[in-house]
Amino acid sequence: MSTVLLALGSNLGDRRANLRAALAALEEAGVTVTRTSFAWETPPVPADQPPFLNAAAAAETSLVPPALLAALKRIEWALGRRPARRWGPRPIDLDILFYDGLRLDTPDLTIPHPRIAERAFVLAPLSEVWDAPLPVFGEPALALLARVGLQGARRVGPI
Ligand code: AMP
Repeated sequence: MSTVLLALGSNLGDRRANLRAALAALEEAGVTVTRTSFAWETPPVPADQPPFLNAAAAAETSLVPPALLAALKRIEWALGRRPARRWGPRPIDLDILFYDGLRLDTPDLTIPHPRIAERAFVLAPLSEVWDAPLPVFGEPALALLARVGLQGARRVGPI
């Protein structure tokens, strides 16, 4: 079993229901969620779209990274996501932040996910599911978050 940290985001439709549905679908796909963050409302990047509801999850899985990515893409599709402009609005976005202590850089998959350390919308929920130093980075999410600031992210309650 490997320990993975995942990021979830939604800014179309019933955002909280989308996050919940994604968590349920992960279990079906062989990803056992062990911790989930609160939901955080965050300003969209780029700004010309509705605000996101973001969350993070810690999970255990025996899926290898490409199989895990394929499962995440299947779940995104099942929840109504269709190919669209990069960084545009979406009912659900699922990203692999960390996979054990693995570093991977292939055309399809970069782990740790790039730009984690700059993004409050990733770091804030992540700090709620993983308070130890992060794999590869060696620092807790909260320490990285203190450096970049909340960037308008606010905790809005349970998922
Ligand atoms: P996005 O628009 O953020 O959902 O990006 C989708 C694409 O990013 C996917 O098709 C993946 O091939 C690629 N990608 C690269 N690294 C990762 C990662 N760590 N987690 C999820 N997707 C990734």
